[in-house]
Amino acid sequence: MKKLTLKFGGTSVGSIEKIKKVANIVKKRKDQGNAIIVVVSAMSGVTNELKEKSDLISKDFDDRELDVLLSSGEQVSSSLLSGALIDLGIKARSWLGWQIPILTDDNYTASQIFKIKTTEILKFISEGGVAVIAGFQGISKDDRITTLGRGGSDLSAVAIAKFFETDSCEIYTDVEGVLTTDPNMHSQAKKIDKISYEEMLEMASLGAKVMQPSAVQASMIDDIPIHVRSTFSEKHGTKIIAESDIDYKKAVTGITYSKNNAKVSIVGVVDKPGVAADVFEPIGKNNINIDMVIQNTSLDGKKANITFTIKQEDLKKTLNIIEKNKKKINFKKITHDEKLAKISIIGAGMIASPGVTHKMFRSLANKKINILAISTSEIKISVLVQEDLIQKAVKTLHEAFKLN
Ligand code: ADP
Ligand code: ASP
Ligand code: MG
Repeated sequence: MKKLTLKFGGTSVGSIEKIKKVANIVKKRKDQGNAIIVVVSAMSGVTNELKEKSDLISKDFDDRELDVLLSSGEQVSSSLLSGALIDLGIKARSWLGWQIPILTDDNYTASQIFKIKTTEILKFISEGGVAVIAGFQGISKDDRITTLGRGGSDLSAVAIAKFFETDSCEIYTDVEGVLTTDPNMHSQAKKIDKISYEEMLEMASLGAKVMQPSAVQASMIDDIPIHVRSTFSEKHGTKIIAESDIDYKKAVTGITYSKNNAKVSIVGVVDKPGVAADVFEPIGKNNINIDMVIQNTSLDGKKANITFTIKQEDLKKTLNIIEKNKKKINFKKITHDEKLAKISIIGAGMIASPGVTHKMFRSLANKKINILAISTSEIKISVLVQEDLIQKAVKTLHEAFKLN
């Protein structure tokens, strides 16, 4: 008998009708002779609504209480799905994170799972029951509820596949699988049959919402293959697997975008060792993530400009920090830009294909899309552009790299 982990995202359990549909999928997989552990997200929109409520109380709502609040969405969907299964004549039971327990660290709102107790659920499924586990949540050593970061039910599913040693980890969602780009941005987006952990981690981190980055990272560390597939079709989805199993025919596998980036330029700092450290140290100490960095030096080599990007929501705080450290950093002026987008092309195939960089820049230039900053790694190239050019840039690159 095979053991399966089946995770259903918020869009798959977004209405009572959809929950009944999911119950039928689970029944079908069970009738094929499998032991089943289901992981569910909150019904779509619910987590956002709960977050908005906490924002109305305070923009600085307590993290521990936020986790209690947000985790309630998954309590609702896990009980509704268990009830729907029982109604179909299947033995089923819901489990909340703390009841299992799913043990996490105490990094409230963005916890990591380190252990899951398996005995009770293994007994239940071996006796023919379907275990329905509320995703996105766990419990800290202080017995307080934790959540795993937005999109965290994906991480629950990977951890459950790991600790229960299930034969599959299937992520059911509202699209056919991982696509070459966000279908909302470009209707020509195509399903990718196989993608490596590394590429998927880049795509997820650079904006492809379909998988949570921490979940991909966890699957990569323990080599837990993932199958991303649709709740609304029987077709095969996308396999996320180890790189050695993939044959790279194309230089670029996928294109992503992220909104709400801001750019800060510190003009006229003295070009000597330690300046960059003086700029970035206080920013880092305030838990602000720096993304792209560019430094250029004046012709006489005495002065430099340091430009970097951050999330838009961190802009005000960052500018304040720099102003506060003005004496130490010693700069001439500071400028900033908002509403910028980062467009990235990702592909392990680019390692062996020279010319990808200039092809990207040339095709954007041909469409008069101005590049404001660039960053690269072995398997990705990102450029910063004005936010209103996202769709044009995505479509241009999708065509240029023959993903249409
Ligand atoms: P779920 O509710 O199942 O967790 P999500 O909304 O978190 O689903 O993720 C699925 C959505 O991700 C899709 O509906 C799609 O709009 C978006 N998306 C963005 N980029 C991609 C991509 N490259 N491939 C597939 N979906 C993507
Ligand atoms: N409900 C949570 C969220 O919206 C977790 C998830 O959907 O995976 O972020
Ligand atoms: Mg999701």
